[in-house]
Formats: sequence, C-alpha cells, structure tokens
Amino acid sequence: MRRRVLVVLTTLALGGPLLAVPAGPAVAAPADLADLADLARSAPSAPSAPAARATPPPKRAVAIGRGGGVTSVDADASRIGLAVLRRGGNAVDAAVATAAALGVTEPYSAGVGGGGYLVFYNARTGRVRTIDGRETAPSAIPRDAFIDPATGEPYTFTPDLVTSGVSVGVPGTPDTWRTALRRWGTRSLAQVLEPSARLAERGFIVDDTFRSQTADNEERFSAIRTTRRLFLRGGELPRVGSRFRNPALARTYRALGRNPALFRRGALPREISRTVQRPPAVPGTTLPVPRGYLRPRDFRRYQARVQAPTRTAYRGLEVVGMGPSGSGGTTVGEALNILEPSGLRGLDDGAYLHQYLEASALAFADRGAYLGDPRFVDVPVRDLLSQRYADERRCLLDPARASTKPLEAGDVTAYDGRCGTPSGRSTSPEDHENVSTTHLTVADRWGNVVAYTLTIEQTGGSGIVVPGRGFLLNNELTDFSLTYDATDPNRLAPGKRPRSSMSPTIVLRGGRPVLAVGSPGGSTIITTVLQVLLNRLERGMTLRQAVAAPRASQRNTATVSAEPGFIDRYGALLEGTYGHDLVPSGDAFTSAAEIGAVTAIEIGRRGRLTVVAEPTRRGGGSARVLRPAGRR
Ligand code: GLU
Repeated sequence: MRRRVLVVLTTLALGGPLLAVPAGPAVAAPADLADLADLARSAPSAPSAPAARATPPPKRAVAIGRGGGVTSVDADASRIGLAVLRRGGNAVDAAVATAAALGVTEPYSAGVGGGGYLVFYNARTGRVRTIDGRETAPSAIPRDAFIDPATGEPYTFTPDLVTSGVSVGVPGTPDTWRTALRRWGTRSLAQVLEPSARLAERGFIVDDTFRSQTADNEERFSAIRTTRRLFLRGGELPRVGSRFRNPALARTYRALGRNPALFRRGALPREISRTVQRPPAVPGTTLPVPRGYLRPRDFRRYQARVQAPTRTAYRGLEVVGMGPSGSGGTTVGEALNILEPSGLRGLDDGAYLHQYLEASALAFADRGAYLGDPRFVDVPVRDLLSQRYADERRCLLDPARASTKPLEAGDVTAYDGRCGTPSGRSTSPEDHENVSTTHLTVADRWGNVVAYTLTIEQTGGSGIVVPGRGFLLNNELTDFSLTYDATDPNRLAPGKRPRSSMSPTIVLRGGRPVLAVGSPGGSTIITTVLQVLLNRLERGMTLRQAVAAPRASQRNTATVSAEPGFIDRYGALLEGTYGHDLVPSGDAFTSAAEIGAVTAIEIGRRGRLTVVAEPTRRGGGSARVLRPAGRR
C-alpha cells in the first residue's frame, strides 16, 4: 500500500472534496450545499401507475441532515430503519430492521432465505469489523453436482441450475442478523423484526419495479406450486397499486424473533431441507427443477463469520471492504492501487474512463485466479492489496489503448513493483452472476456506520418458496465456477462458500468514516462501487452526482457493458480513441438495462450526513435522515 501522507488542503465541506486536492485542472465543480438541497427537493418520486388503487410511498433520492440516516432501495424499508434510529436504536439495529423490511418489499432480492455481507464501523472502539453471512454449500453436495446425472452433461445454467434445489446454499442471513445484534446491537431480534412482520401482514403497495420483476420471473414462478401461490395469486401478476400481503412471512419473522435459532435446528431446517430435496414443482411443468442436497445438519453447522475487513490506503484515505469469501474488498482495492499514481483528477473524461476500465480488467483477472472461500483456498489478500504488486500490474495499463481481453492474472509469488514479463497465469473470465441483490447504508447519531449488501442471488433466487413460510430460497451456489478445473479457487466443494462480488465499503479518513457505499448487480457490483468512489473522490462530483452518473463495467472480458446513457455520452470517445468495445448492459433474465442500484452516505463535519439513493435506477431509492437540514 502506498504510504504517502497528503496534507489535507480543504476541510470536508458538504459536497466538497474528500481527498486532498492537488493543484491542477478540476474536472467539474462540486455542487455546494445549496445545490444539493435543491437536488434533494427536486428528486423524483417513484413512478406510479395511472390506474393504481394506491400509490407507493413517496421516495427521495437525497436527504441531508444530522442525527442518523438510512438509505435503501425501498421507502418502507428506509422508514422502518429510520424509526429504529428515532427510538434510540443504533446503526446495527436499524440495519437489521431495514434488511428485514427489504425481505418483505424486495423479496426477490433479499430475505432470510439468502445471505450477505455487513461492514460495521464501531464508533466506540474506532474499529471496523465485517460479517461474512454467505450461503454455504451442503455437506453432502457432490463435487460434480452441476452435472445432470440423467445425461452426464452439465446442466444448462438457465433454466436448470437457476431454478433448482441444486443451487440452494444454507441461508446465512438469519445468523448475520443474530450475530450483528448480539455483538453490536442494542435491540433484540424480536424488536427489530416486529415492524417488518407488521408490514408483511398489512402489505405493501405494489410498484412498477415489483410488478416487472415478477413478470421477468413469471414462467419459473408458475412452475413451483408454493411460489405461484404466493407471488402469482390466481395466476396473475400483482397489479401496480394493489396491496401485497405475506402473512406467512410475518409468522416466520415473529417465530425468528422468539427463537433466534429458528434456522439452526428444529422444524424449519427440516422443512427447508425437504423443499430443496423435493422442490414443489407443479405437476407437468416443463422446467426440470433438479433436486438439491441440503440436510438439517448443514443448518446446525452454519455460522456467520466475523472477520477483519480488507484495507487499502488511497490518497490519504483508507478504503475498507469485504474480505474473502467476498471478492469486493480485494478487487476494488487492487484497482484503486493500480489507479493511484494516475492523477485521475487531472485527466479528461476519455483518459480517465479508459484507465478506470483497464484497471478494473486487471483486478478482475486476479480475482478470477485467486479469490475463493479462505477456508478452502489460500487467498493472497496481502499481496493483492500491496501497492508494489499494483505498480507491477499497472505496467500492463497502456494509457493510450485498450488491451486485448481476457488479461492474464499476475503472479503474487514474485513481484517487485517493476515492469517485467507477464505471469502466464490464466484466469477464468466466466461470469454467471446475475443482477439482483440489494444494498443498504445506515449511520447513527453516535457515529456508527453500517454498509450491508444482501441477496438471494438471482432476482427471485431459486424460484422456490418454502411451503407456508413466505420466503424464497437462494440459488447462490450458481456463484461457484461451473467448470471442474482443479486450480480454480472458486470450484464447488461441500461446506464451501461461493465467491461473492458484494462490496459493502466504508472510507475512513484519519480513522473516521467519511463515506459508506454499496450496490447490487452481480459482478458489476465491484465496478459500480469503484466507479462511484472515483466519481466522488477524483472527479469532483457530489455524492448524488457520483451515484446518478451513467455506468460502465469492464470485468476482463472482450466487451465493456455500459448503460445506454454511458454509451451515448462516451461511446464514440472510448471506442474511437481507445479501442474499447461497448455493448449495452442488461441480461437475459431481466428487462432492466441498468447497472447497480447504489445507496451511500457521506459523513461531513460535525456529523452532517448526505444520504443518497438512486434517482431513477430500480424505480429510485429512498434516502432518509433523522433531522433534515434546515428544520429544528
Ligand atoms: N450473487 C452475487 C454475489 O454474491 C450477488 C447477486 C447479484 O447482485 O446479482 O456476488
């Protein structure tokens, strides 16, 4: 890591620079406080359907103030988190409450049937800790589980593996919540779950996003009895403006509140195991819905892991993130280290974006070669985050021309920071990750900060609802590599956690948090977090601008996936001048062409918070602050 002390020339004024600003051309003038306040007032609310019976609660993409803030993709979830803060709960209490609410209103992206990663800055100790709540492969899963025994050939990814029991891992979210509250919270699980139990009981108002996500999943949801009953009542898509109730989930939340070991032993692990081993497929469905391997003992063994974060020094700041089994911390960190000497602030848009894309590709090459569950493979975290290593990787970055992808991984066993010969190490650019998941960010009045990304993997997970329990099971095991290469660190194994891209990140200055950020989006999560960080730290954008700006993602593949707005703005420049090949983002599973759905909080002087969500992606998010600026 680069040990370079920069004199901080400016204070951390709202919308002002987080970094020390060297002399040189500024790229864009950061908006001042008044601009941001205007933006907050004019932030669009969620789209509502003309014929709706009710409108979803309004959302604002920016909130500025003090006393604590919550930001998530959903208005009910942010409201519930904020209420916890208002009643004296801390950031961890509010984060769990918000996550539980997302399990109700964003059931295709998050919930107790899935897993996630939580990064926590503890204001009392000044330390950052993380929880790896990743799903885990069953102990009885064969190493060739992704081969169809009927044919001897690999299952097709979609629909076979995606809608299946085979890809369901032991859920990690219940133990993440329990662990976070027990260690750092001030409320019981029952207390923080109750508002979401009520929300599930009373129902939430269906918006366009929920309806279109259901429509994207209609075929496979129709193939599973329990899922069809819950999400396609009467065989119909939920109508925008109608109320969606899930009393079974309310009962599950209350049972979990009474018994935090609900997912560890007893009836529920047996029910989930049965469901995975014999998915409740509709008779006569054409989808194969292969059976899986979970057993009750897998639940008894499951433990969320409390671990240290990754740390990357970047221009006087410290960027802390999620270590393995997450690949976010090392990949974002390595890319930052590669870019650090670039003087990004002084570059024009084309030169800057070119370097951002190339650094991402280099870091992704290493991700593919080295990242996996650290209980199973030796992940060279220290080397990957060494500035000397990054300097050597940087030698491969031609500032004038895009490289030919896929790039080889570097050699972490021999590097000296100087340009040398390529390592010859191949890396798999294979990428099956889908664009689901959700991220929430919370800060409280005491200075605690939580960045928490959770998922059930695919939008709609495995497509399998546990009978009578109101939640979908994950299909997280599809994040393992599907090949059987013995050298692949992310190869499937019993009891192993699949590599993740989730990248909840907190930026510290002088040991105190100044920014927290994260996003959904499969492997694009990493590039989204990187891009937002660079937008904010290097490109003179306010946080709101940094989040709203169009995105592109280079993950060591021949083409760069980019949002239409990005292609319109920078396509000709990046293709013509630098030789990148930009293709519109979006995938076969969803109708959305967006990359990510960020939430972020910036912590300014004397605890002033800029709380930000997406203005439009996924229908816009909901940023809330306890004491809005300008109000007493
Ligand atoms: N399964 C992905 C991961 O852990 C996240 C899912 C998504 O965002 O689509 O990296």
